[in-house]
Amino acid sequence: MLKTRRGGCHCGDVRFECEIDLAPEGQRSPPPRPGIWWTTTFRCNCTFCRKTRMWKVFTTPERFRVTQGEEKLVEYRHGACEIQHVFCGRCGLHPFARASFEPLGGDFVCVNIACLDDVDPQELEATPIVYEDGINDAYDVAPRFTGYL
Ligand SMILES: [Zn+2]
Repeated sequence: MLKTRRGGCHCGDVRFECEIDLAPEGQRSPPPRPGIWWTTTFRCNCTFCRKTRMWKVFTTPERFRVTQGEEKLVEYRHGACEIQHVFCGRCGLHPFARASFEPLGGDFVCVNIACLDDVDPQELEATPIVYEDGINDAYDVAPRFTGYL
């Protein structure tokens, strides 16, 4: 079920709004584009996601708005990686990332579910999660251990 969610960083400088679907399988709205990215959430063991505890849900740019503090965002790009990770310049939280990848159908926003303010724990518990073995560059395979992610 597609819903409008609000979230932000810790200090409150950065706020955003997005339309995302966190419902369990069988209760979800039609995805905006083809591909697994639009049908679930992701946790990954890559060097970045593991350290930031990133919990990803993908949405399209049309379904995402920074409502406050765009100018407070600091950008980080890892090596040659094309993902624009953004952090609040004051509190350091990582509310979302932006990039453009062909397999995902072009521009997308990757929202950090941990930075949403209006999702209750019961809903989060029921949200489907796909685990990615990013440390081994195997994003279509779950790593052997997932409990710590
Ligand atoms: Zn902040």
